[in-house]
Amino acid sequence: MRRVMERAPYLNARLQGFATTIFDEMSSLALATGAINLGQGFPDTDGPTDVAEAAVAAIRAGHNQYAPGLGVPALREAVSEHQRACYGLEYDPATEVLVTAGATEALAAALLSLCEVGDEVLVFDPAYDAYGAVAAMAGARRRSVTLQPPDWHFSAEDLEAAVTARTRLVLLNSPHNPTGKVMSGDELELVARCCTEHDLVAVTDEVYEHLVFDGSHVPLASLPGMRERTLTISSSGKTFGFTGWKVGWACGPAPLVHAVRTAKQFLTYANATPFQHAVAEALAAGTKYFDQAAIELRARRDQLCDGLAALGFVVFRPAATYFTVADITPLGFDDGLDFCRRLPERCGVVAVPLSAFYEDPAGGAPLVRFAFCKRPEVLDAALERLGALG
Ligand code: PMP
Ligand code: GLN
Repeated sequence: MRRVMERAPYLNARLQGFATTIFDEMSSLALATGAINLGQGFPDTDGPTDVAEAAVAAIRAGHNQYAPGLGVPALREAVSEHQRACYGLEYDPATEVLVTAGATEALAAALLSLCEVGDEVLVFDPAYDAYGAVAAMAGARRRSVTLQPPDWHFSAEDLEAAVTARTRLVLLNSPHNPTGKVMSGDELELVARCCTEHDLVAVTDEVYEHLVFDGSHVPLASLPGMRERTLTISSSGKTFGFTGWKVGWACGPAPLVHAVRTAKQFLTYANATPFQHAVAEALAAGTKYFDQAAIELRARRDQLCDGLAALGFVVFRPAATYFTVADITPLGFDDGLDFCRRLPERCGVVAVPLSAFYEDPAGGAPLVRFAFCKRPEVLDAALERLGALG
């Protein structure tokens, strides 16, 4: 996200423009002003008590030293079993599952290990902000396919036009942040065909896999010919509602996981041993924790979307995730970044501009993202405050 045009001293050329993430900027604004934070995506309640207790028990049981570089064996086994039970995908926990410091580290290690300097990484804009930054760190170039609202679709031609001789990998995020889109079967097939025809690696970001309200999530790796070339990334943060624990994982064929592990071992080596134990227990418990979370979140989605629509926003109702996108044009605004920077002082609410998710700073200009992973009374209070805009 290269919004800041001033050169930051000391910062290397690759990272110019990435100085402060939009989430940090907007969460700091919320703290400074006391505004209701519907910007950064984190729940305002804890995840399941049993899972928190499992982490406490793991600390008390002495699981407090470095985890093995690949991750705690019980967690690798639980991830492997999760992929098998949910999607029929088989991964050997000894060689095909890697535990990481959140999905973020898995993404960074993937790009750092798989790309040569000058390679191109294909992403779908609007795209989660880390993608551009980790591509830059890897010396790779971001190539964007722009998803078209209102349904955020792309065509085979859009995809084909973005592939060049330097394309190394496709980075696919479904369910998608910030739009809440779940890629359709046809779209997944287009991506799969593109990867097989051009011999590309696929890296998928599936951190919202269990927060789906309409339709269902299908991992790209489950399409014919894709398991052997796909690194599937996910995380416990969203699935169990403990975003601060930063326990993620990547699954893929052994040579791909080996490559990613090579970079990962020099980023963190290992992290969060007691939380890895707790997440292993949570995953092994089947779907009970996340099924319930998705039911509750669906009601929050409807509450926020209906409320925003009643206030005059054009709302893009999401099929999944924590987020909804809204167009501010009907309320008389056209610049989402300026709108979000002033929103706390105008009415005591924080949101995130969609422009932060585009390579082209003009992308998504009149759109903003609101998070609905908050208690119902907090969403009601935010809607009441936003009423002051009209
Ligand atoms: N990918 C996407 C699409 C996200 O929204 C987030 C934020 N949770 C992440 C990756 C980062 O996940 P983690 O907190 O597990 O690093
Ligand atoms: N994934 C979260 C979001 O999109 C933010 C995580 C972060 O701040 N890096 O809001």
